[in-house]
Amino acid sequence: RLDTLKVHTKKIRLGEDVDLQKIAQATAGCVGADLANLVNEAALRAVRMGRSVVTQDDLLQSFETVIAGAVKKNAVLGEMEKRMVAYHEVGHALVSALTKDGMPVTKITIVPRTEGSLGYTLYLPEEEKFLSTKEELLTQLRSLLGGRAAEQLTQDDICTGASNDIQRATELARKMITKFGMSERLGLVTYGNDNNEVFLGRDFSSTPNYSEKTSAAIDEEIEKIVMTQYNKAISFQEEIHSIFQKTTQITANTITAITISLILFFIKTTSLSNSSFSNSVCFSPKHSF
Ligand code: ZN
Repeated sequence: RLDTLKVHTKKIRLGEDVDLQKIAQATAGCVGADLANLVNEAALRAVRMGRSVVTQDDLLQSFETVIAGAVKKNAVLGEMEKRMVAYHEVGHALVSALTKDGMPVTKITIVPRTEGSLGYTLYLPEEEKFLSTKEELLTQLRSLLGGRAAEQLTQDDICTGASNDIQRATELARKMITKFGMSERLGLVTYGNDNNEVFLGRDFSSTPNYSEKTSAAIDEEIEKIVMTQYNKAISFQEEIHSIFQKTTQITANTITAITISLILFFIKTTSLSNSSFSNSVCFSPKHSF
């Protein structure tokens, strides 16, 4: 990615603060077109602001635009909604950050975006990964469900904001079972293929290569895997409930990596000495934007 970024930024003037290495690290998972888009967007942003050089901030803001959509102007959340979104996003972040294999969180925002999100949690993978272990996938599931878990735990009510998380969690659990052979009950068998309904929701026109009985077993297993991780996300957050409340109270529109590090440090030193959490929480400020 660094090389791709270098190519795309060749024709524009970069400010002295620009660190392409950092941008490359932050954009793990982005393809060439995303990066071209990002650089383009950053250049436009600089022009809009009346500058002839592109700064690091232009690049970072544009990265968020590329992955989450632009900030939706005039979309102001009501106090209740703001609270709900704040709890939801911090729920994701805490579950991920307090888990051994969880990705470090660099930023949490509760600003509505044009792609439809009302807030998001930005993770920064420490290194490029080509394989995922079962444990890592379960961690991913747990973080995905951490938002809804936080709603339920703190608001005594739930909202529609978790629909995309639930969809992604379901798809991930389905893949673990039907493709990666990670369910003892269903064994080392591929169910369905890339073109049929296993990955695209149920399409009755295609013929599954497994029985009705197996189909029901897959559904049951998906529910079990997802709900197990959801319950874990709940109990994680229950353990740190009071600190969790404080965290969301300090939520402005954005919490940056430094604040997150401080909060996690606080959590770790005050309440988790004998707890089940892992020690490898990432406090490193090197992830800060
Ligand atoms: Zn969410």
